[in-house]
Amino acid sequence: MAIRNIREYGDEVLNKKCKEVTEITPRIRDLIEDMLDTMYEANGVGLAAPQVGILKRIVVIDVSEDGSEPLILINPRIVESSGEQTGSEGCLSVPGKSGIVTRPNYVKAVALNIDMEPIEIEGTELLARAICHELDHLDGHLYVEKVEGDLIDNAAAQAVEEEE
Ligand code: ZN
Repeated sequence: MAIRNIREYGDEVLNKKCKEVTEITPRIRDLIEDMLDTMYEANGVGLAAPQVGILKRIVVIDVSEDGSEPLILINPRIVESSGEQTGSEGCLSVPGKSGIVTRPNYVKAVALNIDMEPIEIEGTELLARAICHELDHLDGHLYVEKVEGDLIDNAAAQAVEEEE
């Protein structure tokens, strides 16, 4: 169990395409455990391997309130999407910021689990948004490329709210 350093916007590792996982080694099991610990520690709903500097197609997601529903997706791929949702999005690699992004409201993805067995996952709303966001990381894309309008500074936005 270990917390890894989260790479931040501007670090070129975040702009690289990740490689498929071909076998689950003890190192990959450790990586996945650490990714979950790092995500929960940072109060995130998702984390992709490149965010901790590893260019492999692995993401972890947990959109539950109490961190009780971890999803581990290896070599994930979106196979179906529909609808549209527009809302605020943030990223652990872009701390203190958020922005408005439009995503599908429903996605279906296929992936492998930690035993390299095929799984299928469907999500709507926040889970659909998280799947899209995390899978983008595996191809070197960040949500800031998709923001409608300006990136918002959360601290400044909160200060304005408190003044009002
Ligand atoms: Zn992110």
